[in-house]
Amino acid sequence: MEFESILLPGMSNQRPLVIAGPCSAETEEQVMTTAKDLANIGIQIYRAGIWKPRTKPGGFEGIGAEGLPWLQRVKKEAGMYVATEVATEKHVNEAIKAGIDMLWIGARTTANPFAMQEIADALQGGNFTGPVLVKNPVNPDLELWIGAIERIYNAGIRKIGAIHRGFSSYDKKLYRNLPQWHIPIELKRRLPSLPLLVDPSHIGGKRELIAPLSQQAMDLNYDGLIVESHCYPDRAWSDKEQQIMPEALSFILNLLVIRDTNQTTESLSELRHQIDQLDEELLAVLSKRMRVSREIGQYKKEHQMPVLQTFRYDEILVKRIKQAKEMDMGEAFMKEVLEAIHEESIRQQMEVLNQ
Ligand code: PEP
Ligand code: MN
Repeated sequence: MEFESILLPGMSNQRPLVIAGPCSAETEEQVMTTAKDLANIGIQIYRAGIWKPRTKPGGFEGIGAEGLPWLQRVKKEAGMYVATEVATEKHVNEAIKAGIDMLWIGARTTANPFAMQEIADALQGGNFTGPVLVKNPVNPDLELWIGAIERIYNAGIRKIGAIHRGFSSYDKKLYRNLPQWHIPIELKRRLPSLPLLVDPSHIGGKRELIAPLSQQAMDLNYDGLIVESHCYPDRAWSDKEQQIMPEALSFILNLLVIRDTNQTTESLSELRHQIDQLDEELLAVLSKRMRVSREIGQYKKEHQMPVLQTFRYDEILVKRIKQAKEMDMGEAFMKEVLEAIHEESIRQQMEVLNQ
């Protein structure tokens, strides 16, 4: 899949692209006040949830279509582009009819292929060409995320972006939703032209984490940020712990360090060359280790010994992890490496056994 830019007419190609606004549109006054404050700090795209997917019934489920004219006022009076979340065919049709510029799909919707297909079908053949932003599903399933993006792509939309908003976990410790950065990194590797935004508000779940998460996203070369901002965060009807005032957002954005140099110097090329060579050595050592392992497999076969010998594996694990720590490598990392090597080793010995 090849994607097009998600910038809207007149916007400059600058990192980060920032989308900001309240979790939910609550009242016309809250929508307008927040929008004007955000426009004043230079934000060009306004977000506000009109339809809110809530975990349990009984909470504020969004103002509904009644809030759409408020967003039209934001366009006219604050001169901003507007974005909202859609989860059904009806939402799509109403949002497009109201002139919403950008749509996003929430984490609970991305996880549901039927809902995704319904949205894609509603978009197909219409005159809305995007941008459509697809949040990651609540569960850490990269294929499901890519599948959702593909459904929108197959509806003919090319201006697609992905939003990383973290993944649900039973224990909520530091983060509301675990970042698991390796998942969006793999997404970017698989779909290099796909614009990638981070949602530090829903990952962190608290105000203090917005600045460090945004900086991390910039350091990982994300294209943009979508941040929840409210004129009176403490009075917000949803997600109040994670919303910040436009003024605080401006402060955070001004402090971001953007490292944008791609220039490779001689010394960097030399270091990369060293890495290539070391990787080659690593592969040669691994393959040598597998050969020895196969010989052991042959021995075990001839002497009727089982392939898996737990005590030996335990001994290796304990010893190597201790050595790794002495060499400044993390315990969890070493354990994963050893487990992967052991798994391949067992696979090769089983092959010998069945020859
Ligand atoms: C939101 O952006 O307000 C929202 C509901 O987020 P998520 O789908 O990431 O939970
Ligand atoms: Mn929210």
